[in-house]
Amino acid sequence: MRAILAAVLLGVAAGTATADGAPAALVAVVIDDVGDRLEAGERTVDLPGPVACAFLPHTPHAERLAVRAHEQGKEVLLHQPMQAVTHNELLGPGAVTLEMTEPQFLRTLRENLLALPYVSGINNHMGSLLTRHPGHMTWLMEELQRQGGLYYIDSRTTHHTVAQRMADEVGVPAGRRHVFLDNRRDTGAIRAQFRTLVRTAKRQGYALAIGHPYPETLAVLEAEIPKLAEAGVRLVPVRTLLSASYKRRTEQWQASWSR
Ligand SMILES: [Zn+2]
Repeated sequence: MRAILAAVLLGVAAGTATADGAPAALVAVVIDDVGDRLEAGERTVDLPGPVACAFLPHTPHAERLAVRAHEQGKEVLLHQPMQAVTHNELLGPGAVTLEMTEPQFLRTLRENLLALPYVSGINNHMGSLLTRHPGHMTWLMEELQRQGGLYYIDSRTTHHTVAQRMADEVGVPAGRRHVFLDNRRDTGAIRAQFRTLVRTAKRQGYALAIGHPYPETLAVLEAEIPKLAEAGVRLVPVRTLLSASYKRRTEQWQASWSR
């Protein structure tokens, strides 16, 4: 029930239709790991349409680029570093880890949020270890709720993630990444992943992709985003996509109750 409440709190109409009246398939795109490099960040922020920009905390260009993203009508996400199973030397500043107490965890998260303007939500950077721990993920979701309706996008760096379950229990709007655009940093492979995104959206009504500010990824997005409308697909902000996905899940629950 709290998930339904979260959908109501999102307060965004999910209904969008194509010219022939059929509901449009919705896609959202998050570009994360933004903030360290200015030129790549500017090109990301200038992408066509409401592509969401996820900033690593305390990086040199995050604050300025977040202001520009907001001015361009793009959502700003905190790309929160979370402890992984391996390669934790890559976490960077502002990371949360399993050995932190709740006050340490919350202080780190709040400092990250305070340093970044216009934040709408959070997604995890790395996190293949931390996102499977219900206690820490509950601390995170409770803080998102205290911050006044921030949402959570699970990057899904592990199949063992409990993020959606903990978000549902606390009543935080949450969704997940369906497609990684650029695990292979190759234009042809990225274009194929973009087609997978469109196919997934047409099948389930909505789909969310995560990519990185690589020149190859940005070039594919610059070319492909303007063609989405004629394919009957609409690029929307993450919050709109979450609202649509909750509506869909609610309808599925209602259908299963009435059976
Ligand atoms: Zn990342």
